[in-house]
Amino acid sequence: MATPVVEGWFTTGSDGEQPSLLGGRCTTCGTVTFPAPTAGAAWCPDPACPGAEFEQVPLSRRGTVWSYTDARYQPPPPYLPPSDGEHVPFALAAVELAEGIVVLGQVAEGWGVDDLRVGSEVELVVEPLYTDESGERLVWRWKPVTELGEEADQ
Ligand SMILES: [Zn+2]
Repeated sequence: MATPVVEGWFTTGSDGEQPSLLGGRCTTCGTVTFPAPTAGAAWCPDPACPGAEFEQVPLSRRGTVWSYTDARYQPPPPYLPPSDGEHVPFALAAVELAEGIVVLGQVAEGWGVDDLRVGSEVELVVEPLYTDESGERLVWRWKPVTELGEEADQ
């Protein structure tokens, strides 16, 4: 059975629906945060807003690349390499959503920084991060949807 690596941050689409991140929307002013604030310990990120209650909302499944980076080399300790000792390069993208927030995530399997540009469009996907005794553990990733042209060669 495949389960999210963090509970309550996103839906996996296992019920036939598209996966999505789950944010919290301030019931007073409508400001959206991700991840959603923990119940009982919540306050609105807008300092001018007295709101302290949030409702769970699915976030936009597409956004635009705000920034990205390439973790091509294994980070120094205390980073722990995978158990097989191989560092697999991965790209990280910070993606701006229509809600006005930026959500960091790995780039989807098979894609890298060469497929990203600031301002290009990406879509949320849910992929296995690793497998443990409880089965596949899932995480959200950003998958490029913008076809980059010739100018990509720089
Ligand atoms: Zn508010």
